[in-house]
Amino acid sequence: MTGQDGAYLAKFLLEKNYRVFGTYRRLSTPNFWRLHYLDIYDKITFIPADIIDSRSISETLKKSHPDEVYHLAAQSFVGASFDQPLYTGDITGFGTVRLLEEIKKYNKNIRIYQASSSEMYGDVKSPIKNENTPFHPSSPYAIAKLYSYWMINLYRVAYGMYAVNGILFNHESPTRGLEFVTRKVSNGVAKISLGLANNLKLGNLEAKRDWGYAPEYVEGMWMMLQQNKPDDYVLATNESHTIKELVYEACRAAGISTSKIISTKENFRPFDVLDLKGDYSKAKRRFGWKPKTTFKKLIKIMVEEDITRWQRWLKGEHFPWDAATSGEDSHVLKRKPT
Ligand code: GDP
Repeated sequence: MTGQDGAYLAKFLLEKNYRVFGTYRRLSTPNFWRLHYLDIYDKITFIPADIIDSRSISETLKKSHPDEVYHLAAQSFVGASFDQPLYTGDITGFGTVRLLEEIKKYNKNIRIYQASSSEMYGDVKSPIKNENTPFHPSSPYAIAKLYSYWMINLYRVAYGMYAVNGILFNHESPTRGLEFVTRKVSNGVAKISLGLANNLKLGNLEAKRDWGYAPEYVEGMWMMLQQNKPDDYVLATNESHTIKELVYEACRAAGISTSKIISTKENFRPFDVLDLKGDYSKAKRRFGWKPKTTFKKLIKIMVEEDITRWQRWLKGEHFPWDAATSGEDSHVLKRKPT
């Protein structure tokens, strides 16, 4: 519930008059800023749970007695999965099976959405990927996600469960985690434009990604659970852009020079997927889903929001966001807001 998609999905479901139960991991520093940012914190029934602990999953099912379960819990950062391959396998891979097993025991009629990922295609040469494109995962994260993908398929055919994989291409927003490249760039250029940082260090600028707007993607997740039969679907924009283009658009929106953005070797991954572009025509044909926000608009939304946040911080305002408490920005935060 505390991640980007969990928060937008909760908002969407609340607007549809669902009763929403949200699981979260107990942390010494609570992580609810997105739910406050979207102004939905008070409308959610929270249940502490961890995808590593089957008992906490069965307790969650008993407490919430759900009709639909959206499984978004993961170690979701590709870069970190190279440093933590076993942890990523346990959370992002086995976590799905713990959930499937508990749901199978509790009530096989519960509908399950599983967050699959475009990263599963990995190093596949075909330029546009759809539900029939073979997978060639290229990171511990993608391999763990592919394991989950096949388990969902297996429980569907072996036990007749309504379980679906949403193969979502990158989807971003002002609530995206700061470690992902779009938000790293929007936050970075915002600081540079306000004189709070001198430059921004990135890694591979040649990689291409298919970036959409996250609030539109959570609606697609819900649609996947409202069909007559369970199936897997790609959600994407059918456009891909390089990190260089992302940097160009972000600098333009912030009114700064692209020379402040530097590519450094330490930000490169051991192996990087070069191009991801998705064909969403099946989702469009079956239930009319299509992306609405363009790449340029998305980057503008994110940069403008981060500039506004830093301006508010400079004025000494308190409001829900992540950058002010991230270790990354500690050097900026030593400066006192005026
Ligand atoms: P991913 O597609 O799930 O890995 O999403 P990310 O936003 O983490 O990365 C997208 C692409 O941006 C990858 O090809 C990265 O190698 C590339 N990239 C270049 N510089 C950076 C950086 O500084 N941080 C991150 N996260 N990605 C970067």
